[in-house]
Amino acid sequence: MTATKNQYTMQDPLKQYPGPDFERQPQSAPGLARDMKPRPDHGEESYQGFGRLKGRRALITGADSGIGRAVAIAFAREGADLVLNYLPSEEPDAREVLELVQAAGVKAVALPGDIGSETFCGDLVSRTVAELGGLDILVNVAGKQTSVETIDELTTKQFEATFRTNVFAMFWLCKATLPHMPPGGTIINTTSIQSYQPSPSLLDYAPSKAAITAFTHALAKQVASKGVRVNAVAPGPVWTPLQSSGGQPQDKIEVFGSEVPMKRPGQPAELAPIYVLLASQESSFVTGEVYGVTGGNHLP
Ligand code: NAD
Ligand code: MG
Repeated sequence: MTATKNQYTMQDPLKQYPGPDFERQPQSAPGLARDMKPRPDHGEESYQGFGRLKGRRALITGADSGIGRAVAIAFAREGADLVLNYLPSEEPDAREVLELVQAAGVKAVALPGDIGSETFCGDLVSRTVAELGGLDILVNVAGKQTSVETIDELTTKQFEATFRTNVFAMFWLCKATLPHMPPGGTIINTTSIQSYQPSPSLLDYAPSKAAITAFTHALAKQVASKGVRVNAVAPGPVWTPLQSSGGQPQDKIEVFGSEVPMKRPGQPAELAPIYVLLASQESSFVTGEVYGVTGGNHLP
């Protein structure tokens, strides 16, 4: 990515990042960002911090690649100390992120592991509190998406694994985090345009995202009296390994992003500023909201 591909220089957003056609590039899930062609932009060279999260303590899941990596880079450059969670097989991506966030001068601790386990989720939160001295921001980014053509081929095992990663883990992490969260604390979940406009081949993923949306609305109302805010971000198509490692069939990767009015996929770097806004005190009156970043296929 060249230096002009950033969030600060006025430019034509249609030309800011690549659009189709893309190469086929199958990987097994979870894929690695470093093996993608072209490599996604997570803000490595562009994101500028302004001290908006100075001294905050954040736990980010899915922090090795894609949207989670962009959030980690942005939060570190805004001054937050971080715990990064990801799957052990993603260590090569995670090492790159650790180096980048430590270069921002904040504390960053890697705690890899499978959030599909309630016990691990509880441990992840207590180890985060021990490492960082508290927990002010929980960002649930980790997710599982596997495209399956027909209901006949969709197994109970997959249906359950999708809900375990996308919905149950969010519930377990929120539940374990809330007792530690001071007033001013924030939770940010990652839903999807699929919550509102489901694709036929995402019969498990789309309803898991609808559950995240409803959970966000309900939890926000439940904890508003504690001064804790809960919001979600709903991306449209974003250029990440989630998609090339089975989230879409390879023929859809070739034309990925062509279905949105802006005719290209978003890059993770284009999502991070929204997470920063929702985490910071600048969004103090925003709770229970879902923020779309869709390239034009808006939320209802
Ligand atoms: P990604 O593959 O880079 O990130 C997903 C991450 O989830 C992985 O890096 C992995 O660390 C984590 N993960 C998966 N299963 C896990 C498990 N059992 N335990 C711990 N971690 C696990 O892809 P991404 O697109 O950046 O995905 C981030 C979020 O954005 C997901 O929730 C996804 O559903 C959502 N989203 C993505 C798109 C898109 O087009 N890429 C669109 C809408 C929503
Ligand atoms: Mg990853």
